[in-house]
Amino acid sequence: MSAPLPSPLAFVPFVSVDHMMQLIHEIGIEEMLKGIATYVEDDFKRWELFDKTPRVASHSKEGVIELMPTSDGQTYGFKYVNGHPKNTKEGLQTVTAFGILSDVNTGYPILLSEMTVLTALRTAATSAMVAKHLAPEGTKTMAMIGNGAQSEFQALAMRVICGIENLRLYDIDPKATSKAQSNLTAFGFNITACDTAEDAIQGADIITTCTADKQYATILTDNMVGSGVHINAIGGDCPGKTELHKDILSRSDVFVEFPPQTRIEGEIQQMPEDFPVTEMWEVITGTKEGRTSANQITLFDGVGFATEDFSALRYVRDQLEKTGLFQQLDMLADPDDPRDLFGMVQRAKKTQEAA
Ligand code: NAD
Repeated sequence: MSAPLPSPLAFVPFVSVDHMMQLIHEIGIEEMLKGIATYVEDDFKRWELFDKTPRVASHSKEGVIELMPTSDGQTYGFKYVNGHPKNTKEGLQTVTAFGILSDVNTGYPILLSEMTVLTALRTAATSAMVAKHLAPEGTKTMAMIGNGAQSEFQALAMRVICGIENLRLYDIDPKATSKAQSNLTAFGFNITACDTAEDAIQGADIITTCTADKQYATILTDNMVGSGVHINAIGGDCPGKTELHKDILSRSDVFVEFPPQTRIEGEIQQMPEDFPVTEMWEVITGTKEGRTSANQITLFDGVGFATEDFSALRYVRDQLEKTGLFQQLDMLADPDDPRDLFGMVQRAKKTQEAA
């Protein structure tokens, strides 16, 4: 199926959750993860072009609601996203999101999309793209601590981009581990369900922590982490919400997306303000080194940055014309005379009365 994209002056293409799921199946989830990872990496290569700001967060006792804006000068984008760890107990998602792209020239929106599913894809694609640059050679085994909504996407991206074959799963809730195991078995992983985090990290080259708890948690302590591993720490993404003991940070080389945001939200919020970090865009462009030795612990303190959402939305928009998987949303007023907005409203009343 194909459909021309609507003129930006008429309707806005809208990708619903249903369309996003159809898109994933039409493209194939592994292809889509690879495609998004390429867009995310390409935008990291253009890092200096982007408007960058820490996300705008509204915190409450139970969670956070955030806006994540950026622009490359031609296209503007933002994501609305929440993080409410208590939600799953009420049958709701911890993270839900939607996002917009707009044309900088006119300011008109050119895409509105669900981003709950897309965030899981983009977070996984980013984790795996980063691990491709930092994880040890010949990586085959990943420990996955936290087996909730993000976990299967993380595992699949690490498989298609980094060659992970063996998964060691752990969650404080064994039901989450059984769910992840059952969802992932069909994808050909060797899966071991573990009873403790200590057990899960045995023999792992990559350790992903993806837990949701609104506190300074200690999912990994210093004595658990051996030399040479890559840690993909993505669950701590808010002030007061971390996953690693700070002694691990002292022993690791820490890589981040955008330091002004990560220093507020990431694992490094536990460290002094001048704690040294390397920005991922510098590794990707070859300006700074990533992994330099087999014994080094590399740590991606991933909090999720606006450019990654922008890249994921760009990827989705580029698929629409050939798949036709969008609705046309009547969200832009389009009077014949742009200054006669009032007249357009009045004419609609007459049309309604005549009908
Ligand atoms: P989720 O609620 O679906 O899953 C979280 C899982 O963590 C649950 O199964 C829970 O039982 C488990 N858990 C909690 N405490 C644990 C502990 N001490 N040990 C082991 N397991 C534990 O949440 P999700 O959507 O999978 O998101 C996970 C985390 O990742 C959240 O904190 C979310 O905010 C964060 N996140 C980060 C990014 C990013 O870009 N960095 C993107 C999306 C989500």
